Amino acid sequence: MEVNLTSVSVVRQQLASQQIRPSKRLGQNFLVDANIVNKIVAAVEPDSGDLVIEIGAGLGTLTKALAEHAGAVIAVEKDHRLSPLLQQNLGHLPHVRVIEGDILELPIDTLVSLAGDYGIIKTVGNLPYYVTSPIIMHLLAATVPLASITCMVQREVAQRILASPGTKEYGVLSVAAQAKSVPELVCNVPRTVFYPKPEVDSAVIRLIPREQPFPNAIYEETFFRVVKAAFGQRRKTIGNALKKGLEMPAEAVDELLAKAQIDPMRRGETLSGEEFYQLTEIILRGS
Ligand code: SAM
Repeated sequence: MEVNLTSVSVVRQQLASQQIRPSKRLGQNFLVDANIVNKIVAAVEPDSGDLVIEIGAGLGTLTKALAEHAGAVIAVEKDHRLSPLLQQNLGHLPHVRVIEGDILELPIDTLVSLAGDYGIIKTVGNLPYYVTSPIIMHLLAATVPLASITCMVQREVAQRILASPGTKEYGVLSVAAQAKSVPELVCNVPRTVFYPKPEVDSAVIRLIPREQPFPNAIYEETFFRVVKAAFGQRRKTIGNALKKGLEMPAEAVDELLAKAQIDPMRRGETLSGEEFYQLTEIILRGS
């Protein structure tokens, strides 16, 4: 008989069968709402030619729904206590492979190489909130091209990733995510659709990685030095923030901003990713 993994009583009963208490430390809040599962699957758009990599399989609720459409699913789960349940819930699906491990220690190309020949690779996860940003950055740094990254994150993190220059949510995370991808909101999600219920609301977002992220590997370090300098002194003008943050002489900063046609009186938090990139290019190439 088909087991309904979005039923709270089934989730409770499965966890109890292994004497598992959901771990707060691992961000274990399991999805118990079929409608939200369907919305995530619709955002991923899995197809028979796609490999879907899922981060944080949990009991396999989303994994199973993805597997109905995807060519192959690789699901990573850090908590070894969940292995028997994942085996029980997904073991009958030959195109699903569960890898026990920490996603941050697994290069995406290694995971891809486990799956055979798939031209389109999509990633998805109802992410553990304690490591959301590192996981997103890990995915955006993948050396294999990813068609999309769909993830459930804390609502406030979604707002920061989607934020426009000049808003209070706009910061290093917004610039970093937007420099490497085009993010969009899929849907807001209330805390009531999880077991156990978390203390915050969530949102599903989808990031489409840019073919040409604007800080390439060589420029990246300088780009983030400039960005961090600008946001390290949010209340200061970009001129003063760069002088302090980059330890550059005043004349050099004035010249840099003049070349980039950026008003030195603007606040750093009003600069777009493209403007940060322009400053990086001028610092590294002189023009
Ligand atoms: N996908 C399931 C669902 O939607 O019900 C579970 C989502 S739960 C929010 C996050 C899952 O990620 C947990 O099962 C947790 O054990 C797992 N996890 C936590 N840290 C991880 C990491 N670094 N790498 C892989 N999985 C991790």
